Amino acid sequence: MPKYDAIIIGGGHNGLVCAGYLAKAGKKVLVLERRYVLGGAAVSEEVYPGFTFSVASYVVSLFRPHIIRELELAKHGYEVIPMDCTFTPSLNGDRGLARWSDPALTRREVSVFSRKDAEVYPEFAKAMTTISKFTKQIIDHNAPDITSMKPKEIGNLLRLGGAVKDLGAEMMHLNTKLLTMSAVDFLDMWFESERMKAPMSVSGIIGTFQGVRSPGTAYVLLHHYMGELDGAFRSWGFSKGGTGGVSMACARAAESFGAEIRTEASVSQIKVKNGKAVGVVLENGDELDAKIIISNADPNRTLMGMVGEDQLPADYVTGLKRYKYRGSSGKVNLALDALPSFKCRPGEGPHLAGDITIAPSIDYLEKAYDDAKYGAFSKRPFIDMVIPSLTDPTLAPPGKHVMSCFVQYAPYHLKEGADKWPEHREAFGDAVIDTLAEYIPNLKDIILHRQVLSPWDIEQKIGLTEGNIFQGELSLEQLLFQRPVAGYADYTTPIKDLWLCGSGTHPGGGIIGSSGELSAKTILTRSAI
Ligand SMILES: Cc1cc2nc3c(=O)[nH]c(=O)nc-3n(C[C@H](O)[C@H](O)[C@H](O)COP(=O)(O)OP(=O)(O)OC[C@H]3O[C@@H](n4cnc5c(N)ncnc54)[C@H](O)[C@@H]3O)c2cc1C
Repeated sequence: MPKYDAIIIGGGHNGLVCAGYLAKAGKKVLVLERRYVLGGAAVSEEVYPGFTFSVASYVVSLFRPHIIRELELAKHGYEVIPMDCTFTPSLNGDRGLARWSDPALTRREVSVFSRKDAEVYPEFAKAMTTISKFTKQIIDHNAPDITSMKPKEIGNLLRLGGAVKDLGAEMMHLNTKLLTMSAVDFLDMWFESERMKAPMSVSGIIGTFQGVRSPGTAYVLLHHYMGELDGAFRSWGFSKGGTGGVSMACARAAESFGAEIRTEASVSQIKVKNGKAVGVVLENGDELDAKIIISNADPNRTLMGMVGEDQLPADYVTGLKRYKYRGSSGKVNLALDALPSFKCRPGEGPHLAGDITIAPSIDYLEKAYDDAKYGAFSKRPFIDMVIPSLTDPTLAPPGKHVMSCFVQYAPYHLKEGADKWPEHREAFGDAVIDTLAEYIPNLKDIILHRQVLSPWDIEQKIGLTEGNIFQGELSLEQLLFQRPVAGYADYTTPIKDLWLCGSGTHPGGGIIGSSGELSAKTILTRSAI
């Protein structure tokens, strides 16, 4: 009899959430993480002495509140501090646009560019909140299987039908538009000012290889709108100690329920006997057996890498090969000697403490995508940055700061080849710094260190295929009952007793915890453990 009920490959936040639920149900669980540190893409690391970065993901909002309660994460250090502002600096001689959690303040700022937009903004926010509430009924349950006649699946579809009815005709029509339109076309229905639409549209392209005018990006916009912190919808925040703080809270909770966690334990192979997963082989040659194996690694890494194409049915292999990764994002993490001062709003102020977006116009964003379409990084990219040390001083020495810059586009598939990224990495970093320096004249003088991560580096470091930040694009054809492969959206694989629990499964990427939770709950009702 194997010692463990379940071995979970990967200590990303979803693997740790899955471990927490299984251990809480009394199962004997072992988590094996290949890196020295837990968290996967939700990780904090002291990259330079005294400077701790959220190396990959940097803000939190989507994490499901019921998971926080059920796994008692607050008791284990989960703490997210909400941000108050989204600031879009300008080079046009004005003060830029800052949107605040205070609606009156936002109205005043938006009115400078368009009175109409200021008036319509609360209506837009209300509509998005209504649709988000509906969408949460989808992300909080297994993906509905529209091809199944099983009573449980029909029940699932009926429940959704009820939610659609509650949504009402007008909102349902809007929802359909969201699923099919581009972020810009969708925003055009509400707003007139570019200065408003450009920074809002970028939520539609995060992690995708698409432009703000590409159909389907409106859904990604919604995905980033769905968050809630302490019941406040649409708000984003900083995890105490960086995003690794979320993962560490999940790890401590899982351990408190009895799970065992090992780091620097990279799995090279999943052992399959007679079509059934029976254990794993580590890179150091050790073998460990369990009743079931669950993988937090992405579908490609798990099935093609650790199982092997020859063990899988041909149609599943075809589905996996069609599943798109094609990472498009990079990250530049800066250790700063002082705070940046923006040309359009000089000096310190609350506008520095929130999210800061370089998105001056729709054309700017489309041009950034043009570079990527032809296999080059954007010369003038979209950049989303935060200075979390202003909110959480533990991240940097006194008086100094960490600044995290999420950048698009940095296509994994450079025209010279993905493996040429090491030769282009620093030039990419320079393009980011040069872009920012146009807005922040003191920037180059205050940089102490810089960490530049291309999608190739993200693949090497975090283990995400092609550097896709969501373990596969969040495009409509790769969501719900088709994520990652049609017929296997219920966390199963063609290998008996091999399950998936990472964001390459429904409902997808972001620090949400849902894939970990839903896979665990499915495993508890359907597997032999
Ligand atoms: C640059 C970047 C920025 C992002 N920004 C945000 C953001 O601000 N907010 C947000 O909500 N989301 C953001 N995301 C997305 C979010 O971080 C991810 O979707 C989420 O963290 C994925 O969690 P996961 O547990 O599903 O998978 P992962 O985090 O990918 O975890 C998988 C784990 O498996 C491990 N593993 C892989 N192979 C093996 C093996 N062979 N043996 C053992 N272990 C293995 C990996 O090391 C990793 O720890 C960002 C992601 C990136 C990369």
